Amino acid sequence: MDKALYVREVRPGIYLMDEAHEATGYLVIGRDRACVIDTMNGYTDLGRTVKGLTDKPVVVVNTHGHPDHIFGNVYFQEAYMNPGDGALARGFIEDPAFQAACRERGLAMPPFRDILPGDVIDLGGRTLEVYGLPGHTPGGILLLLREDRILFTGDSVNHHLWMQLDGCLPLHAFLEALDRVMFLQEEADIILHGHARDVDDISLMRCMREGIAEICAGKTQDDAPYRWFDGVDLQHAYRCDPDGRYQQSEHVICYRADNV
Ligand SMILES: [Zn+2]
Repeated sequence: MDKALYVREVRPGIYLMDEAHEATGYLVIGRDRACVIDTMNGYTDLGRTVKGLTDKPVVVVNTHGHPDHIFGNVYFQEAYMNPGDGALARGFIEDPAFQAACRERGLAMPPFRDILPGDVIDLGGRTLEVYGLPGHTPGGILLLLREDRILFTGDSVNHHLWMQLDGCLPLHAFLEALDRVMFLQEEADIILHGHARDVDDISLMRCMREGIAEICAGKTQDDAPYRWFDGVDLQHAYRCDPDGRYQQSEHVICYRADNV
């Protein structure tokens, strides 16, 4: 059954698409073509929604291979994803419940096409640059919308980061990868992530990075249990940016004690 899709134009020609408050994708419209960034769980016919917003050719890009970002690919002919997440994605796609739901609705996952760090997607007057950020998943990517100074981060940078899942890299490895892309905080003003309902200030990236560094440095004495659908792990709360620009009530990194 369809669930609600909340669509909002956050900047001219840039739409936030929040599916049932469970996952968020985006539509970026350029002069020549448009890009869908993440397609959520596939509850709603995203292809039809996108057609109602633009008549330009559409390219679909997945920030990573988790089901709540790729299952909506079923409404498109193809989708780009970093092959580093191929095995992870296949595991979810082959799940019998998902296959049965697809058959019931006459839908199927389209083929993935490779997108790699260093690639640039030219939409005409708007360009998306691809940066690799392995951590939340092995093949996670960030997309910098250069002209609008927006960084699309999927689940790799947000205020409730999940690093406790199977397939997440150790936090030390994530910290190293994050430090290789921290220069992006000078190239973007806002973050749009995979579970957002509004824009976040780019300073979130620095705040979250400091939180991960604290865990890696063993400053975990105040960490609390984190109960989620697959067990109990740990959560590390981190502070706002010292300059006070970033103000959110909750900032936590969820992680496994044996994967730091
Ligand atoms: Zn994810």
